[in-house]
Amino acid sequence: MVRKPGERSTRRQFLRQAALGGVLLGGWKMAAAAQLRALRVGRYQQGVRLVFDLDRRLSAAPVIHSVGEVLHIELPGIEHGLHRPVVPALDPLQGGAEMNESAAGLVLRLPLREAVRWRSFSLGPDGRAAHRLVLDLMPLATTAVESSRRQPVARAGRPIVVCLDPGHGGHDPGAIGAQGTREKDVVLDVGLSLAQLIRSTPGMRLVMTRNTDCYVPLMDRMHLGLEQRADLFVSIHADAFPERAVRGSTVWALSATGASNAAARWLAKTQNAADPLLGDVQSGIHDPMLNAVLINMTQTAAMNSAAAAAAVMIRGLAGVEDLHNAAVQHANFVVLRAPEVPSMLVETAFISNPEEEQRLRDPDFRQLLARTMHDAVVAHFVKVPPADSAWSATRHVLRKEENLADVARRYGLSVEALRLANHLPRGEGQPGVPLHVPIMGA
Ligand SMILES: [Zn+2]
Repeated sequence: MVRKPGERSTRRQFLRQAALGGVLLGGWKMAAAAQLRALRVGRYQQGVRLVFDLDRRLSAAPVIHSVGEVLHIELPGIEHGLHRPVVPALDPLQGGAEMNESAAGLVLRLPLREAVRWRSFSLGPDGRAAHRLVLDLMPLATTAVESSRRQPVARAGRPIVVCLDPGHGGHDPGAIGAQGTREKDVVLDVGLSLAQLIRSTPGMRLVMTRNTDCYVPLMDRMHLGLEQRADLFVSIHADAFPERAVRGSTVWALSATGASNAAARWLAKTQNAADPLLGDVQSGIHDPMLNAVLINMTQTAAMNSAAAAAAVMIRGLAGVEDLHNAAVQHANFVVLRAPEVPSMLVETAFISNPEEEQRLRDPDFRQLLARTMHDAVVAHFVKVPPADSAWSATRHVLRKEENLADVARRYGLSVEALRLANHLPRGEGQPGVPLHVPIMGA
């Protein structure tokens, strides 16, 4: 860190030294102002990648929005920034930046040459680098022009790949209810209904681990998600517990302890080209320790994404089911272990609970589960579409004469998906509020 003496207040110098000392000692114990330690910018695909080096994990997701030709980036909980952030003029960036410290966090403003879409994810410390927020910016030019002229959408972006995994099958019935209801049948039916909905969603591609009553080994399920480069892997199950009163939905996401040897073997085989901005991993790709670093990074990104998707899923299911666990649970199920594939496992309900077994036997309830899960998947990608995908994120400011149903229809969403993507309660939205909405590709 380069620091010019006399430029900052004594308090801040103290805090910075304290922060640095804490990191060097390897044990961060004292409460001090969090800071942005470096900002790195480089080319990435057709746009740029910004890597923010932070001395701690963000306390909440960054808030990013564009106002005219300026991109606003709010880093919650980060109190201090660089004295003068250096941002080169790399398209779509105009070059230069303005930074303000506020009570809510650090606000960075980047002037743009053109409209952009973006994605962001965070990475944990990996031994060399501290906590990082990665922000990719892509020019929006082609999308914006096409959609405003109402031409058929011909985006170059790839479809968003959703891999559905109805649990069990074949000789493995899964859990069995008191009335003889088999988990494998229930989850296949929910999975097939959900598959139908995903197939009919523009810009999405469906992959399924099974669509008949057959047994698929867990590792094969995981590998399918990897091979197909799924943006989201959703395993569907129905829970069981000896105590019959236990009920409700649970959503599991990949955990850090799930970072397994299987992932390490996969990575060693594929020798995935690393991103130079994320660390010095390119030269050392054959070095097992550096491979471990790379796995750590890819899994952290996938895990963050999985956790975000799972959080939306849990909010969606809260509308139709009691929640057994109101927070996302973290697990290391084999199917959730694919590196780079954000994965979640949804326990729809307890087949061991007589009332819930009855509901699971009802085709209307299974359809409702499928619709709700679809809304949650869509809402997740409305908020964070993959950077190179056919979807991009935009905002729609709600007008007085509009209701949510109008907006939902206009952007090809269900009202529920629009609500989920925007944390909207029941009732109508407030006019003037910008809503997250997608531009869906073909
Ligand atoms: Zn199961």
